[in-house]
Amino acid sequence: MTYDLVVVGGGPAGLAAAYEAFNNGIESILIIERDMELGGILNQCIHNGFGLHTFKEELTGPEYAERFIDKITDTSIEVKLDTMVLDIKEKTIYAMNPIDGYMEIESKAIILAMGCRERTRGAIYVPGDRPAGVFTAGAAQRYINIEGYMVGKEVVILGSGDIGLIMARRMTLEGAKVKAVIELMPYSNGLNRNIVQCLEDYDIPLYLSHTVTQIIGKTRLEKIVVSQVDDNKKPIKGTEKTFTCDTLLLSVGLIPENELSKQAGLQIDTRTNGLVVNETMQTSNEGIFACGNVLHVHDLVDFVTQEAQTAGKYAASYIKDEYKKGTSVKVKNGKGITYTVPQNMNTISKESIRVFMRVSTPSYHQKIVVNCGGKEIASFKKKTLLPAEMQSIVLTKEHLAAIEGDITIYLEEGK
Ligand SMILES: Cc1cc2nc3c(=O)[nH]c(=O)nc-3n(C[C@H](O)[C@H](O)[C@H](O)COP(=O)(O)OP(=O)(O)OC[C@H]3O[C@@H](n4cnc5c(N)ncnc54)[C@H](O)[C@@H]3O)c2cc1C
Repeated sequence: MTYDLVVVGGGPAGLAAAYEAFNNGIESILIIERDMELGGILNQCIHNGFGLHTFKEELTGPEYAERFIDKITDTSIEVKLDTMVLDIKEKTIYAMNPIDGYMEIESKAIILAMGCRERTRGAIYVPGDRPAGVFTAGAAQRYINIEGYMVGKEVVILGSGDIGLIMARRMTLEGAKVKAVIELMPYSNGLNRNIVQCLEDYDIPLYLSHTVTQIIGKTRLEKIVVSQVDDNKKPIKGTEKTFTCDTLLLSVGLIPENELSKQAGLQIDTRTNGLVVNETMQTSNEGIFACGNVLHVHDLVDFVTQEAQTAGKYAASYIKDEYKKGTSVKVKNGKGITYTVPQNMNTISKESIRVFMRVSTPSYHQKIVVNCGGKEIASFKKKTLLPAEMQSIVLTKEHLAAIEGDITIYLEEGK
């Protein structure tokens, strides 16, 4: 099989990237998705809050996905569902499904959009028994919203990221008693609107600077012990509280799904665990592009769509032999910033470049400063910066013209 473009992953990133490449003149496109349906993680996110930027509407996850699936249906883009990509070597994709068996697919360009997966109990070393009733929040969300199984009645949630918060509300609406949300950090890792709408509206207590220190239960979970932690995140003796519960949901982080990328020899960023890309979303291998959660974990799908459109547009220009190479500069993170995407950029002949980043701790009245060789190229005032909320800045043509070497982005006090 031969295509101009193969997109791995049919979530919002893969869908928007494929559609954008089609709109830029590429007709021979294949999307490969391992699930039985297109839409990715959005299919299980039945709450609203999607698409405020892209469609200026508040959609549910499946509604947002449907907008792109409908657009794709009207094109020549082909889709293979229930198909797992097993390996990528150069521009050859090795995939498998129950109907076609093992497939070798040649492509001029590839877009990687495999999303991310959840960290499990094994990744955070919670001591204790190994009873039933301990789920990742995303697995519980899938059981309830897609498979139609209720996972428990008395629930504690570890982790106050968006998935943890949304599941606290979801479990409550389905009739469970959510006794607490426990968070290791002294602040929540979720969006502010989710703390209000998912915890405060339902009187669910949030314990900051706490963690689960023991899991107890023979066959089903019976109780958990929670302790306060010190500044080094170590449990403080004598602060233990016991919660009786039959279910513990873990919402303790997401990891970009990059086993395929590693097999393909692509450069990974140790700060994001995602792929290293330039401003066109091209990875370290020419003709292989990436977008969405496979690059870095997003809180808003709208930014996933924006990144995917960039990947689709430039993959199309690569296929048409119009892709302009150029010397690229490195984008480094300085004080207060944990990472940037893209990590490299070619600043020549670009109208503007959007740079995404996250801050390391909550901070207020700051400036995001872009510095090149000791010279301030640009600065952006920000009233509130929270680790849970991805930040982005746009470097204009004028800013880009002033860049002569690697740049560093950092925070500085600035009222
Ligand atoms: C619980 C939760 C709540 C959220 N709430 C909001 C919200 O309210 N508002 C908002 O804007 N955003 C929200 N988001 C964020 C947003 O939904 C995600 O950032 C976005 O869906 C990521 O898109 P993606 O395409 O990169 O990844 P995914 O949606 O994960 O898609 C990746 C796809 O790749 C497929 N795949 C992976 N590996 C392979 C392989 N080897 N072969 C074939 N296929 C493969 C997967 O099956 C999957 O379908 C939420 C996310 C979660 C998890």
